[in-house]
Amino acid sequence: MVYLSEDHFVTAHSSANPAALRVPQGEVVKVKTKDCYSNGLRAENDPRGEAPCPVNACNPATGAIFVEGAHPGDTLRVEVLSIDLDDYGTMRVSPKFGFMKHKVTRPITRAFRLKDGKASLSGVEIPLEPMIGVIGVAPETGEMDTETPHQHGGNMDTRFIRAGSTLYLPVHHEGALLSMGDVHAQMGDGEMGVCGLECPAEITVRLSVIPGRKEECPVLLYDGVFYTICSAETLEQAGHLAADNMLEFLKKRVDMDPDELVMLMSLVCDLEVSQVVDPLLTARVALRKGIFKDLAF
Ligand code: CA
Ligand code: ZN
Repeated sequence: MVYLSEDHFVTAHSSANPAALRVPQGEVVKVKTKDCYSNGLRAENDPRGEAPCPVNACNPATGAIFVEGAHPGDTLRVEVLSIDLDDYGTMRVSPKFGFMKHKVTRPITRAFRLKDGKASLSGVEIPLEPMIGVIGVAPETGEMDTETPHQHGGNMDTRFIRAGSTLYLPVHHEGALLSMGDVHAQMGDGEMGVCGLECPAEITVRLSVIPGRKEECPVLLYDGVFYTICSAETLEQAGHLAADNMLEFLKKRVDMDPDELVMLMSLVCDLEVSQVVDPLLTARVALRKGIFKDLAF
């Protein structure tokens, strides 16, 4: 196993990012990540004391990781083996930010002790399901800031990108140039209040390449369910993209008439919301567990 410290971070996914680490296929990498505020957001009377640095909500993503043997047209397979959280997470609400901002009367920043897989909000116990907010490769052209999700991955804020999941990302550049960060100790679909329970963390992943097989958007496998994940300016557009990509995914793998596949999708696929607070909104289509026993990426 190799280790990559949070001192190597990017604020945009780009083919111009230098490789902070080069790994052979199959390598297990432990990646230390800052939270989305660069670990600089502190509540009043925060038990951790003063922030070690100023707030910088740049969504730093640790990377870039160059995976040897990943070529344009391939798929990068990221198996999320574990996500180890810091002892504290932070979140905030504000009348200025988020889907619920019109209902928020005052800004609140709060630190949460994370212990035994739980956090507590005014006595309400919340079980933690840690997840990765930002994970992506260099996009086909130009750069994408780490705030914005798109076909390269990025700030997808999809709560099933968690330990035990496998993420498949289309490779556009040599080495793929993978970066990740923005771990949430917990988040609900939508991320309505503008953030999750933001937390520095250590993410352990295994990286490998599937040569010559590529979907156009990120595909996630978690708990036997395949998800196509897409982002656009509106949820409706994002949902359309995710549905169209699920249809393409199925066409390549299931010997059925394409119109019948749409019938099938109408019966056993779920259109779900990942997040509604980033510069582009993210929807996903889930193919229900157990419909095709041997379906593989
Ligand atoms: Ca995020
Ligand atoms: Zn976040």
